[in-house]
Amino acid sequence: MSLKNLRTHFVSEINPATDDGKTVVLSGWVHEIRDLGGICFIVLRDRSGRAQITMVKKKTDAQLLDDAKRQSRESVISVVGTVKAEAKAPNGYEIIPTTITLINEAASPLPMDTTGKVDAELDTRLDNRFIDLRREESTAVFLIRSQVQKSIREFLYENKFMETCTPKIVAAATEGGTDLFPISYFDREAFLNQSPQLFKQMLMSSGFDRVFEIGPIFRAEEHDTRKHLNEATSIDIEMSFADHEDVMEILEEMIVRVYTDVAEKCAKSLEVLGVDLKIPALPFKKYEYEEVLDIINNEIPEIETKMVFGDDIGTQAEHLFGEYVFNKTGESHYFITAWPTKTKPFYAMPNAERPEISNSFDMMHRTMELSSGAQRAHLYDVLCDQIRAKGLNVDSFEFYLKPFQFGMPPHGGFGVGCERLVMTMLELDNVREAVLFPRDRRRLSP
Ligand code: ATP
Ligand code: MN
Repeated sequence: MSLKNLRTHFVSEINPATDDGKTVVLSGWVHEIRDLGGICFIVLRDRSGRAQITMVKKKTDAQLLDDAKRQSRESVISVVGTVKAEAKAPNGYEIIPTTITLINEAASPLPMDTTGKVDAELDTRLDNRFIDLRREESTAVFLIRSQVQKSIREFLYENKFMETCTPKIVAAATEGGTDLFPISYFDREAFLNQSPQLFKQMLMSSGFDRVFEIGPIFRAEEHDTRKHLNEATSIDIEMSFADHEDVMEILEEMIVRVYTDVAEKCAKSLEVLGVDLKIPALPFKKYEYEEVLDIINNEIPEIETKMVFGDDIGTQAEHLFGEYVFNKTGESHYFITAWPTKTKPFYAMPNAERPEISNSFDMMHRTMELSSGAQRAHLYDVLCDQIRAKGLNVDSFEFYLKPFQFGMPPHGGFGVGCERLVMTMLELDNVREAVLFPRDRRRLSP
């Protein structure tokens, strides 16, 4: 069963104009069988699309036709046949088969429909994720997500970032806090890391200068929302000799690059999802936190409670302000900068002139936060003060603080949630749709 004998082409690689009359081998799943009496069709599906296998009764070997009709839906088959250009068929061709081999039969009934004719609840889809992913809409999401991650890697390599892997089993919390999953680590307690933050900063002291990591983060958040996961994928960067402005520039350029690549390279998947991708315009608009407060309090009457300096921008305000920006600029992406120092983690750099605000930012998309970033506090004393100001214990950060005493350059960075990036790009209703096997409060399997 060598691959060489099982597939010469993916379905979408056949070009009816140049491949007409050629013998090809396709392998995939039986998407549908239609027996219309005089003519029988099998629709074969692989991850690239669907091909129609056409058998005219009078012209087809009786045994072959009989075998074809007996295939069950979603079985794995391999078909050897001749390409015939046919404008009305999917991808503009049909296959006239010479052999149809059943490679592995699917049991019936199927746990879920794959043709899109029956709408399934998200929970049912996730329970049967292996088969849900055969639906072309689901496949499209993950083909696009793959391109998103590829484009980000390419973009960051081109901008002199090196890829790193930091530990996910850690002894201390990144930011204190309670959103941690404890695990047993031999005879000690350890945690699943909520962010690579501390490690990527330590690498700045090592002189790596520009690092990135695309990896899992774990958050023991109990809430059940459409934008929170308990295991997410973070796209993290950290860069030296840079401030928050430099970091924002890299971030907005990265987002535009991803959108541009997806629009160009994933046209078919976008069409399957009915998404008309609008590439964001550069530069992204920046609103200072206090400006946002002013607008929310004075120009957005729907807001329920007036906001004061130091308040977090809650979900309702986030949505209303996102709409406000969109109506004003026609853009979905924007920055909120200059957050109060006390609302941001200890590693954000306080502003030199106004220490009550920090050199920090969030990058937003209409309805949610996509990224947080900042220039970091790179001076040992400032950092220790800020750790204490958050009520945390300096001693438990010793491994992190040491590098700051032996040559730490100024630096900054950000983290973007990969799933939220894909979710907002494709207008998905729920972040779980952008994860192969999501982990949430209730779901630990599959
Ligand atoms: P939020 O306030 O929206 O819960 P956060 O401020 O706690 O997010 P950060 O710690 O700033 O999140 O993490 C950086 C980015 O990682 C976020 O902007 C988001 O895109 C993503 N992210 C963080 N937590 C989650 C999560 N639980 N599920 C999905 N993505 C997440
Ligand atoms: Mn954040």
